[in-house]
Amino acid sequence: MSTSKGLNSLNQKVVYDITKFTTTDYAGCLSCVVWFVSCNFKCPYCYNDSLVFSRNGKYCLNDVLEFLKTRIGLLDAVVISGGEASLHSLVPFCKEVKKLGFKIKLDTNGTNLKLIKDLISLNLLDYLAIDFKAHKDKFYLLTKTNLYDKFLDTVKYLIKINFNFELRTTINTSLLDENDINKMIKILKNLGYKNTYYLQNFIQTSSNIGNIKQARQIDKTKIDTQGLVIKWRN
Ligand code: SF4
Repeated sequence: MSTSKGLNSLNQKVVYDITKFTTTDYAGCLSCVVWFVSCNFKCPYCYNDSLVFSRNGKYCLNDVLEFLKTRIGLLDAVVISGGEASLHSLVPFCKEVKKLGFKIKLDTNGTNLKLIKDLISLNLLDYLAIDFKAHKDKFYLLTKTNLYDKFLDTVKYLIKINFNFELRTTINTSLLDENDINKMIKILKNLGYKNTYYLQNFIQTSSNIGNIKQARQIDKTKIDTQGLVIKWRN
């Protein structure tokens, strides 16, 4: 049964927008993407700046649920993204999404382990994609926070329980170079990460938080996979 707190959270306008159909955001699934407002990071290359700095969105979660009711049998999954969706009260929403029969993927920066544990223990998550922003020495530069240990605790937990998740890194070589990526691969190897590690080059957009410009492409020949499965997304 939903609590009044849960019902209240469904009425809050925390959704900036909905992408109604995508085949690329959750491999193997026809999905929609729910974009939550706000983020606790301020990554210099973030092009979702209008969303990151918003306190209120266009839609409340009940609006999203009404939309999802029209997509039963047409979509497989809901991708919860942002901003940083884990800043919001996701349990009541995910319970309702599951009742409608959809799979759920969460895109997150990995800093809210408690919420992730709650969602997993309630069988409300099918897949997680977590941003590995940088190793500890560059974490502040890439996020403007000191939350590296929180990110790492989440990754350790997911490896320990053998959860279905991926790690991914966006590379702008003015911020992260080949040595940094090799250091991050070594960290994942040492943690026992066995899933695919996705790498993608930064692509310049009309605006980003740090006014970061396109830098040279990373030299893929200098990346030492150390036996990890690495896939490039661009
Ligand atoms: S890129 Fe960084 S600042 Fe932008 S939404 Fe993702 S975690 Fe937040």
